[in-house]
Parts: sequence; structure tokens; C-alpha cells
Amino acid sequence: MIIIMERTATKVNIQRVLDLLKENGFKVRCNEGEVHTVIDALGDKTSITPGRIAAFEGVKEVKVIREPYRLASRDSQKEDTVIEFSNGVKIGGNNKPVSMVGPCSVEEDYEGLLKVALAAKEMGCQFLRGGAFKPRTSPYDFQGFGEKALQYLKRASEETGLLTVSEVMDACDLDMMCEYVDVLQIGARNVQNFKLLQAVGRSNKPVILKRGLASTIREFLLAAEHIMYQGNRNVILCERGIRSFDSAFTRNVMDIASIPVIKKYSHLPIIVDPSHGTGQRYLIEPLAKAGLVVGADGIMIEVHHDPENALSDGKQSLPIPMFKEVMARLNKFSESLHYEQNCLSANVN
Ligand code: PEP
Ligand code: MN
Repeated sequence: MIIIMERTATKVNIQRVLDLLKENGFKVRCNEGEVHTVIDALGDKTSITPGRIAAFEGVKEVKVIREPYRLASRDSQKEDTVIEFSNGVKIGGNNKPVSMVGPCSVEEDYEGLLKVALAAKEMGCQFLRGGAFKPRTSPYDFQGFGEKALQYLKRASEETGLLTVSEVMDACDLDMMCEYVDVLQIGARNVQNFKLLQAVGRSNKPVILKRGLASTIREFLLAAEHIMYQGNRNVILCERGIRSFDSAFTRNVMDIASIPVIKKYSHLPIIVDPSHGTGQRYLIEPLAKAGLVVGADGIMIEVHHDPENALSDGKQSLPIPMFKEVMARLNKFSESLHYEQNCLSANVN
């Protein structure tokens, strides 16, 4: 870390910081400039945090060089994390991007869910997604169909062989949810619900962690760190757009650049969700392609058998015929991209 002292810092202020660092095993180098004194400190930040040093009198700024997430960082693991499921499906590394599709909410009509699941299967998707507990902005909106929805997901999974994903909102539901689904989702609104992150961190199910509406990339990776710190290393990140100033045409702003940035700094797989990212049906295909081009390990898309009557997110859900067309093109696109990327890395190696 680098500690910049105030212009007005006294010799005593500087010495106190140096003593604190040395007592905690840091190697220090003190550079006295004409205006500011700058201290280089090398050591283990678990013994003394940057925040504690910042609190000392005369300290202007503490700059941390190493990223604060450790387990999620490329520094701790050079190779990409690959998550493998019991049926052989893999996410991450050089594996082909996966597809997770399904309605925003699982609704009372099982046949509707099954139609989506069969279409997903037909189009080569690996996962069926669907919310059972919905984090709605308004208490008057549909809050989810609860355990019954999870039973439907499981039934559809048994009929199609698809793996299932559903959002957990409350740690109390965790054990029950683990009976039904293959992947737990932490929604954008819960990305900093640390107790919930810790709870899924203690479970043995892979977790899809969605980026928060206002999460920086660093905060996002620190949220993943909370899960990993509890022992669960199977975290799949999901870029689903962030809130910005212009919502006239899109619900959120899809931060496409976050995907290669995260790939550079973390070994965790990352998927892209253009449905929530844009909120617009017509933008799903181009933004899914954009995500794949920059290296996403998978896509998540909302599909509904009757979007006009969906209980949530109908506007951004693809009806089944349109889904099939879009997915056919995405499959082709992803196939050629995968081929090209493999040729490229073969040439580099
Ligand atoms: C969802 O996947 O249906 C959902 C609510 O997503 P997000 O948390 O990204 O808004
Ligand atoms: Mn949704």
C-alpha cells in the first residue's frame, strides 16, 4: 500500500504511522518529498487494514495496490474456474457458452412453463430459470409462487433433463430451495445482503451472483468474495446492467466492458443477462452477441409462453417462436465465435 501524508503532517504524525506499520510486520520506505511525505508499505493487510491507517492523524490518503478480493482474484488462481454439473455441463474456461432461459416468474400454469422448457431443450439450452420468490419494487406486484414454483421447476427439469436456477431471497428458504434447484441465484437487489451471501457461501450449490444496480466492479467481486470466504467456490457472476441517468430507451445500461475487465482480474465465470440489462425484447439478441464477443461464459434470457400476460417482466421476455429464432442465431454465432477463439488461442500458444 502507499500512504500519502498531508502537507501539514508533523514528524510525529509520520513516525506514528511508520511505527504502526513496522509493529505489524510491514516493510516500509519513507520518501520525503518537498510537499508530501509518501510511505511505501509492503506486508499483510489482514494484520492492519487501510482504513485503520487512514484514521491516523496526518494521513491524507491510503492507496491499495493489490485488489481487496483475494479468493476471487486472478492473483490467487491463474486458471479459469470451471464449474461442472452432475450431467457433465460445464461453465467457464474454454467450454462453450451455456444458455439459461425461462420466465421471470414461474406462474401457476405448469403447462406454460413446460412449453418454455421444451423449447429451451429443443434449442440446446442447458438451464431452465424461473423465479419463485420475486424481489418486486412494489408490494402490490406479484411476489412469486413460492415453493409450488420450485416444485414446477423440478418437474420440468425431470421431464426435459434441464438443470434449474432460481433466486433465493431469504436464508430461511435455503435448505428447502436446495431440495429443488441446481443453482441458487442472488438477485441484483441482494448483492450486498451479506448475511444472505454468507448463507449461500455455506451451501454446496453453485451460485449465480447478479451485479447490483449500483455495484462497482470491485464491490461486485467483493460480494463474490463473501460467498467464497465461507467455503463455496462455485460462483458464477452475472452482468445484468446497472442503473444510470438515461432510462428513456433501456431499463438499465449494459456494462459490456465489465465482462473482459472481470475476466482480467478474476478467474470466476461470468454470464450476461441482456433481458434485465436492456428491458427490451429487440435488444436481447444484439446484446447477447456483444456479451459473447467479449468473452461471456453464458447467457441468461427471459422467455415466456405468453409475455403479454406475464406476471412480471413481460416486456423483456421473448415469446417462444421468437426465442427459437433468436436462439438458433445465437447458437450459430456462439459456435463460430468459439471456433475462432480456439484457433486464436491455439495460434498464440
Ligand atoms: C431475475 O432474474 O428475474 C431478476 C429479478 O434479476 P435481477 O436481480 O438481475 O433484477
Ligand atoms: Mn425478471
